Amino acid sequence: MSEYILEMKNITKEFPGVKALDKVNFKVKKGEIHCLIGENGSGKSTLMKVLSGFHKYGSYDGEIIFEGEKQQFNSIYDSEKIGIITIYQELALIPELTIYENIFLGHEIKNKGMIDWNKTTSESEKVLKKLGYELDTSKKIKDFGVGIQQIIEIAKALSKNVKLLVLDEPTSSLNETDSENLLRIVKELKKQGITSILISHKLNEILEVADTITILRDGLTIKTIENNENITENEIIKHMVGREITD
Ligand code: ADP
Ligand code: MG
Repeated sequence: MSEYILEMKNITKEFPGVKALDKVNFKVKKGEIHCLIGENGSGKSTLMKVLSGFHKYGSYDGEIIFEGEKQQFNSIYDSEKIGIITIYQELALIPELTIYENIFLGHEIKNKGMIDWNKTTSESEKVLKKLGYELDTSKKIKDFGVGIQQIIEIAKALSKNVKLLVLDEPTSSLNETDSENLLRIVKELKKQGITSILISHKLNEILEVADTITILRDGLTIKTIENNENITENEIIKHMVGREITD
């Protein structure tokens, strides 16, 4: 088997008047934390929406290979079925529903055709506990801040047997404590064998957690680099903006 869990080859995606992705190549190793970075509009979210099936097979050119097999996703459901779970910038939780209803929304635990609420509650608590949280899962989402809501999104991903977790700028709306907590969880998931793609524009974060960094610029893959002690923030910025920077 290949060392790569995911290979996206020559991905081209056009919107009317915009080539959002131009033959992008993006490969993610099994078990790593791979940071995807680039300025606003560089194509990061579009690439992840191609991966998740939000942009259906046929609406882009190129190939997606996951765990060695070619994939043709027609919906987000198709990618989730094989373990690719994407958490978008805009959280998808429903504020008026409880934590446990949100975690199992769309993949309810059933018993003789009926939703098994006891099991749903206990499984929700179990999965949150794995992340280090003891919450009353009968409370509504709207009673919690955005930091906890991100954790609940991750709990939802875990309840779906995630293999590849995609986080699109998860820390952009979080304070420092919540951001650190989220990064700690991503590192914890890595220990459990879960691969992550993390989109972020916070360079300190990236240098802290990334095994590998891919930089997009204007819909092109500029560079994929291993994160090691030789990488500096300045070098990354140089690739992001396409020129030397001065202080
Ligand atoms: P990033 O996530 O890196 O900020 P995006 O992938 O969101 O960038 O956007 C890449 C480019 O594609 C931008 O020029 C953006 O305006 C355009 N784009 C993204 N989604 C759409 C869409 N649904 N319709 C038209 N243009 C889009
Ligand atoms: Mg984006």
